[in-house]
Order: sequence, then structure tokens, then C-alpha cells
Amino acid sequence: MYGFKYHRPQTIEEATKIFAACEEGSYLAGGHTLLPSMKQRLAAPTDLIDLADISSMRGIREEKDCVVIGALTKHEEVASSELLHNAIPSIADLAGNIGDAQVRNRGTMGGSIANSDPAADYPSAVLGLGAVLVSDKREIEADEFFLGMFETVLEEGEILKEVRFPKPEASVYKKFPNPASRYAVVGVFVARTMGLVRVAITGAGPCVFRAREIEEILTKDFSAEAIRNVRLDADLMNDDMHASADYRANLCVVMAQRAVRELI
Ligand SMILES: Cc1cc2nc3c(=O)[nH]c(=O)nc-3n(C[C@H](O)[C@H](O)[C@H](O)COP(=O)(O)OP(=O)(O)OC[C@H]3O[C@@H](n4cnc5c(N)ncnc54)[C@H](O)[C@@H]3O)c2cc1C
Repeated sequence: MYGFKYHRPQTIEEATKIFAACEEGSYLAGGHTLLPSMKQRLAAPTDLIDLADISSMRGIREEKDCVVIGALTKHEEVASSELLHNAIPSIADLAGNIGDAQVRNRGTMGGSIANSDPAADYPSAVLGLGAVLVSDKREIEADEFFLGMFETVLEEGEILKEVRFPKPEASVYKKFPNPASRYAVVGVFVARTMGLVRVAITGAGPCVFRAREIEEILTKDFSAEAIRNVRLDADLMNDDMHASADYRANLCVVMAQRAVRELI
């Protein structure tokens, strides 16, 4: 690992000010992606700005029609939240199946979303529920947020503060995990609100995406049988040592069917 300066701001304003003054700053949340990248010399920030002391970015609260989760909230806190188990159990369930106990006790929701790893779980809940992402500068709709592999609309130095998840009538996340890392080979999040269905898929492509074809069919006929013959375009899928593109394209439909069966 290269040498770097370490900062520990107490507020978001202080953090952004430090970032602006750095040659090449990087925010540090749980460090579960950033530190391994630095060890492998894939990232070499001159300054690490640790967000850990910014208490306004932590916690889970309920507002009228949504649940708001602070970006620094750890996966384990989400998994064990009674509030979430009552309001949106699919998010608690998703968080409880991330990695292993060590990962869940260090990794943060905001770090996972800001990183936009193609196989990360949280982006599917963000997109599937149509959440609103709140940064230090603006509010961003989920449909606008994820741009591609490790790419979001967050600008240099912009901090993701919290995420507002609307409460659906029903939702579920079904993941086909890589047996070693527990990352999603394919993960499908299905949410149903007032007859409308949203389906977000992670793991399959360069970044999370909505399966519009499946959404349209399920909005008319919410049954596993209705989507049985859907064929997603394998050319848009990841193809690697874990699964071929054809396998992933098929798995998306299989996992969506499992999600629908569970919701019914
Ligand atoms: C062995 C292992 C297994 C894992 N398994 C899974 C899995 O099954 N599913 C899954 O989804 N994930 C998995 N992860 C990833 C893990 O869950 C973390 O969520 C992920 O590494 C990023 O979160 P972090 O808090 O560690 O972020 P960091 O590593 O601290 O940061 C990641 C990136 O996001 C930026 N960032 C962090 N917070 C903010 C913010 N609030 N605003 C703006 N930018 C920010 C950082 O600057 C950095 O670029 C695994 C990780 C490991 C090491």
C-alpha cells in the first residue's frame, strides 16, 4: 500500500472541505472495497477521509411513506432492524445475506451503493423500490443514479448522506450467491405497489438494471407462469469464470419466478 494522509472529520461540511483541498482524496466508509483496492494498488488516494464519526449519516428512521437509512449504517444494523423487519422486510433480508459476519459488521449501505459493484446487493433494492438518494448537494431518483460498472452520477467529492426507500405493498429479494464471496451471480428484487411491479436485477450485467419486459408482464399477470418464456438478451449479460452470459440470462428469469412465487 502507498502512503497517504488520514483525516477524521466530524461533519459532512468538514469532510467535503477536506476533499476539496486534497490532491486525490477518497472517502472511507467500511473500507471493505476501498482498502483491498489500495492493497492491490488499484487505488492510490493521497488522502483518506474517514466518514466514521459523522453521526448524522447513521441510523434508520421511519417517515410517513418511507424508511430512511443513513449511508453509514452497517449491513448488520440493517439486517437486525426491527423497524425494517416490520416496514420493508426485504431490505433487512437482503442485508442479512451480504458476505459474512465480518463484512456485515464493517460494510455500509452507502459504500455499497456509491461503489456500484455489478454484483452488489443493495443497488437492486434501491432500483427495485424506486428509492431517492440524498447527497450533500441534491436528491437523485434511483432510475437516474446508476450509470455503469463502478459508476454513478455522484460527482467528485459528493457525499451520499442517506437513502429514502418508499414502503411497497410487498417486496422480496432472491439471490443466487457465489458460494465463495456470497456476491450475487444474479440477484432479483421484485416490488409491488398499487398494482405496479418493479423488477431490478443485479449481478447479471455491468450494473444493476430494470427488467422492463418482466415488469410489464407481471403488472398484467402477477404469476411465475406468465414470465416463464421471457428470454433476456445474453449479449447484455456478464460472462466470466463464475457463469456464462447465457446462464445468467436464464437465471434472471428463474430467480424472478422464485421471487414472484414467494410474494404470492
Ligand atoms: C469478502 C467480501 C464479501 C462481500 N460480499 C458481498 C455480498 O455478498 N454482497 C454485497 O453487496 N457486497 C459484498 N461485499 C461488499 C461489502 O458489502 C461493502 O458494502 C462494500 O465493500 C462497500 O462498502 P464499504 O462501506 O466497505 O465502502 P468503502 O470500501 O469504504 O468505500 C467504497 C467506495 O465508496 C465510496 N464511498 C463510501 N461511502 C460513501 C458515501 N457515503 N458517499 C460517497 N462515496 C462513498 C468510497 O470513497 C469508495 O470509493 C463483500 C466484501 C467483501 C470484502
